[in-house]
Amino acid sequence: MTTPRILPSIDRLRRRPLVRALETEYGREAAVAALRTAASRVREDLTGADTTPIRDREQASAAIEQRAATELAARLEPSLTPVINATGVIVHTNLGRAPMAAAVAERVARLAGGYTNLEYDLTAGRRGARHTHAARLLTQVTGAEAAVVVNNNAAAVLLVLAALADQREAIVSRGELVEIGGGFRIPDILRQSGAVLREVGTTNRTRLADYAGAVNDRTALILRVHPSNFRIEGFTARPDLPELVGLGQRFGLPVVEDLGSGHLTDVSIGGVDEPSVAASVEAGAAVCCFSGDKLLGGPQAGIIVGKEQALSRVQSHPLMRALRVDKMTYAALEATLMEHARGRAEATIPVVRMLATPVREIDTRARDLAGRLEGHSMFGVDVVDGLSTAGGGGAPGSALPTRLARLTPRTHSAARLETRLRGLHPPVVARIEQDRVVLDLRTVLPEQDDLLATALIGLTR
Ligand SMILES: *Cc1c(COP(=O)(O)O)cnc(C)c1O
Repeated sequence: MTTPRILPSIDRLRRRPLVRALETEYGREAAVAALRTAASRVREDLTGADTTPIRDREQASAAIEQRAATELAARLEPSLTPVINATGVIVHTNLGRAPMAAAVAERVARLAGGYTNLEYDLTAGRRGARHTHAARLLTQVTGAEAAVVVNNNAAAVLLVLAALADQREAIVSRGELVEIGGGFRIPDILRQSGAVLREVGTTNRTRLADYAGAVNDRTALILRVHPSNFRIEGFTARPDLPELVGLGQRFGLPVVEDLGSGHLTDVSIGGVDEPSVAASVEAGAAVCCFSGDKLLGGPQAGIIVGKEQALSRVQSHPLMRALRVDKMTYAALEATLMEHARGRAEATIPVVRMLATPVREIDTRARDLAGRLEGHSMFGVDVVDGLSTAGGGGAPGSALPTRLARLTPRTHSAARLETRLRGLHPPVVARIEQDRVVLDLRTVLPEQDDLLATALIGLTR
């Protein structure tokens, strides 16, 4: 029987090349702590079951350093990691929403490692205003007078209501008192902002007269919310934006619109019309809010555009300090807006490109993948019709025709196969449909096709 006497000392271990490399990579302290833990585990193995293959000091040393290396790698590994999105949901909130354009990543990398003029006026040589960044590009692409950027769209709505409706009433249709997801409920945000909710109309029908009847001397604004993640169908009515703006003008009230996704140009996505930010600005909304990382395809951000007067109150509100964004967000947002402004978003911004990818292109990629997976030991594969969605509150109810690579497991269940895909490096997130695993290449970056095929080929058992 082997005895713990063959265990090496920590000092002896530290002379080994692999342990030295571990010290260089993770620091002496962490490496030594990991060695101690590993050594005590190996001691337990040695004194416990005599099935351990460790017979001499060299084998014990190797076992300890291996355990230490594994533990250090696992413990000091970042938890945020790239994944392959094969779900067909383009703006997938759980998967980090918009993948960013290559030019955007480059721009962020350029600015992140150094100093910038974030809050410095280079002409005057003194303190400048952070909110000037992205404002010029935003006003250019939306046609608005002014723009402000905050942490996300929930923050944007909160800030706008706090600045423009504090302790006064915001009129909202009952059909728009919605929960967007992730706990973002319009009534709660209103309460948190200090605004007083004034509900009008019914869930399915609200008329202009309902708004008009609710106006009183405590009214601060009219709020309109884009129904991002649902559609009320059938017997429905709501005034359009120009009508609301007309009403607002009659009573001297600003109209604030929470657009949610905020597409820059009018688009029809899978048969659902998605209004553009520019259209809202042009219709006369005093303020429009939208997300930076939904259909715009940029970084997480809340973008507020609108009239100069309203936005200067938003900018000077004390909450602005708590909700402001950092240099990396400005860098990513400006680079994203530049792609839009230059009219090449469809080629360079992944979200826009995925929305526009023709079915035949997806079909070709799916067939190629299926060809490479032919004869796989775990599943059969074929290519079938399917539907992708915009996700993230863009074009609710939209369905984009797509082609799916469908994996039919030979022995295991579809659930088991789907779990195995999530365990790959990088993890592959897919959908289960009718007891099969389906992969929608619309949301897989084309440059990841090869990686995906290789990972799937490598799956055994
Ligand atoms: C998504 C969405 C929000 C929240 O935006 P975040 O950027 O996720 O904070 C608010 N309102 C609407 C209508 C939305 O679709």
